[in-house]
Amino acid sequence: MLPFLRSDLAQLAAYKPHPGGLGAEAPAIVDRLDTNESPYDLPAELKQKLAWHYQHSLEANRYPDGSHAELKVAIAQYANESAHTDWVQPTHISIGNGSDELIRALLIATCLGGEDSILVANPTFSMYAITANTLGIPVVTVGRDETTFAIDCTAAQAAIADTDAQPIRVVFVVHPNSPTANALTEAEIEWLRQLPDHILVVIDEAYFEFSQTSLLPELPQHPNWVILRTFSKAYRLASHRVGYGLAHPGVAAALEKVRLPYNLPAMTQTAAQLTLQHRAELLPIIETIRQEREKLGDRLRSFPTLRVWPSDANFFFVRLDPTALAPDLDPDATLDRLFNTLKQQGTLIRKTSGGLRITVGTPEENQRTGDRLQALLPEICASASGR
Ligand SMILES: *Cc1c(COP(=O)(O)O)cnc(C)c1O
Repeated sequence: MLPFLRSDLAQLAAYKPHPGGLGAEAPAIVDRLDTNESPYDLPAELKQKLAWHYQHSLEANRYPDGSHAELKVAIAQYANESAHTDWVQPTHISIGNGSDELIRALLIATCLGGEDSILVANPTFSMYAITANTLGIPVVTVGRDETTFAIDCTAAQAAIADTDAQPIRVVFVVHPNSPTANALTEAEIEWLRQLPDHILVVIDEAYFEFSQTSLLPELPQHPNWVILRTFSKAYRLASHRVGYGLAHPGVAAALEKVRLPYNLPAMTQTAAQLTLQHRAELLPIIETIRQEREKLGDRLRSFPTLRVWPSDANFFFVRLDPTALAPDLDPDATLDRLFNTLKQQGTLIRKTSGGLRITVGTPEENQRTGDRLQALLPEICASASGR
């Protein structure tokens, strides 16, 4: 026991980064389909450009631009282009060391030190609750429809209206959601629109480039909305850690106050600017990933033991169909066996929320995912006594 630590930290665990260790007998080829990154690294010419900047223009001994001035201009331009708007300015933007940093900045700027709580609809991205917990901020959870994974807006509305409970100050939604891959429906968006001004609505559009559906055009009418985006997925820069928030200038200014002063290393700013400059070459591969998604979806749906949900993102959420399992099998233990066998074979995916989240990879990776599932599923779902 370290007596100087906050006592509530004893209940918290450190975020366990994926991929987890594969151990000594790691297979030669590992398909990393567990973190929804792009399967494509930056093209060699872009890496060369980045290396050129490091050699010729970047001063390693100087602090980076703490205001992110040039990058904000480039992001504003891309944001306008991406959502067919013309009003996004650098003053609407705050840039974080990954959107994870912005999630923390949002929590610091809203609930920290007060009594108020945040609301999330599970299953969803775990970082909202994890980060809130580290700051001592209570998390109120509601569920989702078991068939569509739409947010239980009735329960959410009741939680907000409950005057005996801690007031809810921030609502986090993901559009499309992770791990379930569904975009917000018109009914869910309608619910967000009518939330009162004193509640901040965070709309995480990490997978926007894959879904091509954004709430950015509505932001001017909603000073209590923040849209989060990231360079970690479609922009292939997960290693560089950069995400951004789009919001009313007052909200953006609050985020600027609470983030760390030099949060974005110079190389990261340069990398983000380069990928934006070269987006005409980088973004078309999203169409390839979307086509691969359709192919992988068809393959997954062909397995009678799997239940597959539609995807608006670059990953699938699947569960074992309980009616297809031999009656003597425990569903969770069976899912564990499937997950672990795939891992031993070199397919890393995510086990979460009673199912599996599978990233769309390269055509070869998706082929292997399909082949391995096809070989494994009948055996895994068959009666334990018959094995
Ligand atoms: C991957 C992901 C992010 C990205 O986080 P970064 O910190 O920018 O890498 C944000 N939100 C969701 C829902 C994600 O799945």
